[in-house]
Amino acid sequence: MKPANLSPKTLSILCVGLAIALGPIVLPEYQVSQVNNIGIFALVTLGLILLTGVAGMTSFGQAAFVGISAYTTGYLATSEQLPDWLGWAGASPWAALAIGLLLTLAVATLLGGLTLKLSGHYLPLGTIAWGLSLYYLFGTLEFLGGHTGISGIPPLQLFGLTLDQGYELYYLIWALVLVAVIVTLNLLDSREGRAIRALRGGQLMAESMGVNTYRSKLLAFLVAATFAAIAGWLYAYTQRFVAPAPFSLQSGIDYMFMALIGGVGQVWGALLGAASVTFLKQWLQDLLPHLLGKSGNYESIVFGLLIVWLMQKVPGGIWSWLSPKLPDWKIKKPAAPGAESGEKLVRRPQPQAGEVILDVRKVTRRFGGLVANNDLSLSVKAGEILAVIGPNGAGKSTLFNQLSCVDTPTSGEIHFRGVQVNGRNARQIAGQGLSRTFQHVKLLPTMTVLENVAIGAHLRGECGFISAALRLDRKDEAKLLQEARYQLERVGLGNYLHVEAGSLALGQQRILEIARALCADPCLLLLDEPAAGLRHMEKQALADLLRKLRAEGMAVLLVEHDMDFVMGLVDRVFVMEFGQRIAEGLPEEIQKNPAVLEAYLGGAE
Ligand code: ADP
Ligand code: MG
Repeated sequence: MKPANLSPKTLSILCVGLAIALGPIVLPEYQVSQVNNIGIFALVTLGLILLTGVAGMTSFGQAAFVGISAYTTGYLATSEQLPDWLGWAGASPWAALAIGLLLTLAVATLLGGLTLKLSGHYLPLGTIAWGLSLYYLFGTLEFLGGHTGISGIPPLQLFGLTLDQGYELYYLIWALVLVAVIVTLNLLDSREGRAIRALRGGQLMAESMGVNTYRSKLLAFLVAATFAAIAGWLYAYTQRFVAPAPFSLQSGIDYMFMALIGGVGQVWGALLGAASVTFLKQWLQDLLPHLLGKSGNYESIVFGLLIVWLMQKVPGGIWSWLSPKLPDWKIKKPAAPGAESGEKLVRRPQPQAGEVILDVRKVTRRFGGLVANNDLSLSVKAGEILAVIGPNGAGKSTLFNQLSCVDTPTSGEIHFRGVQVNGRNARQIAGQGLSRTFQHVKLLPTMTVLENVAIGAHLRGECGFISAALRLDRKDEAKLLQEARYQLERVGLGNYLHVEAGSLALGQQRILEIARALCADPCLLLLDEPAAGLRHMEKQALADLLRKLRAEGMAVLLVEHDMDFVMGLVDRVFVMEFGQRIAEGLPEEIQKNPAVLEAYLGGAE
């Protein structure tokens, strides 16, 4: 294969793989065991990078998961009184790994179920709580050796080989780290991975694109717990001794430092973070007693200060500082599949032109004493553009939230395509063909435009975690990306596929949201102020696009303040004030309606 055919990902994996293979040859023996520890830390940190850096969930409890698996391994390998039904597991490291993993995942599922629904500060506090309680549990349980722990763990035996030398374990540890890195990179570059990354754009956006955010959170959480469990198994066989201290909250915080210092959300940052924090600690332990005397715990103090300094200096972590300095190998970015390649995604059956697809009946929404929507009734047909207008605070966004099932009406009914949908959730209505954009743009600024838009096609793909991790999802993935590319070309952003979405102008970001909504193959599109921030030419292009969608039979409901844009485009206008309907009709009728002129157009001038 010519280097030009290698993706940056493959190339970086090959380089790191080569460096790892050379490790024991060039390193002195005492360094090999240090590098083994770094590998184990890197595995835990990698999980944390996925969980905290990518998915945005802060956890200080990873060390406790390492502990569950390390203790399971230690106990199974040393206990002489295993019950009969478990006796077979005592001698087998594979059984220890499997049982440790299962136990960790069971505890993680339980804790995840309890804590992942918590928001804001409660999640990290929850992880601290379980980190502390598991730590004390390890120290308390008699059969786990209390505070002295479990010693005398026999060396690891795999495939008839005894791995008791540092360099033998080295290859096992680093092979597993490399596998975990590849799995994580594959995951991030997939449908499931995009759903996990979408969590940072706010749950509202992700759910409206059909992502089951709870499931995505739990997936990230369980992958992180799996890496921690494998690390625990390796730890038990590397140290041949387990005691509570390495699984304390303090260690949980150290893992967080490694993730932050290495590179928040950067896969390779796990290796850098684990290495730099370990070497930094080692170096301080060696150096400080010479400088400051042997009494006192100066290294912890200086370590803390250095961490603060590093976070100030390189807030994005070492990887984000280092990566622009690495040689640029002039590798082509993987091109998005061309419109001509492969099969297309299946489209949903479209409604007949003129069929009523949205029917809102007497919807009222109260917030305490405030009636934000009062007894509203309206309907939208396939192939029609309806504008909802009204002064600020009239209740337009509230109405949109009821329609997209982000919020539930206090009373009244909403029927979409003949089915009553009020009371369902945003994900369900997205699945039925209603797609929306947001008044305040919600996208992932550091993801590419193409990836952002592909989130919209989430429900049209089917590959899950396993196929993503093993890269068996390429066909499905090509179809999703091809759809994203097609929609981007359609809205006029075809030249921006691989740029970061955050670098687009605000008007373009709004257009990106329309492409993302179109990726869901909707029959009703809800657009909240789509023309805000657009230049004159861009508004014309947007109006042309909406006309084209209408001609294809799509129904569009839009909230918009730009009257020139609205009046020249839409079929009907629905006017609201103080949560109530004050007029409804053709654009030319509305422009002459005295009540509207009084309430809205008059007020605006
Ligand atoms: P518009 O989009 O037409 O500008 P909104 O639908 O955002 O208006 O708001 C209508 C009214 O409902 C406003 O008075 C607003 O303060 C109130 N409102 C909207 N959402 C909430 C909420 N979640 N809780 C309380 N009041 C709300
Ligand atoms: Mg609004």
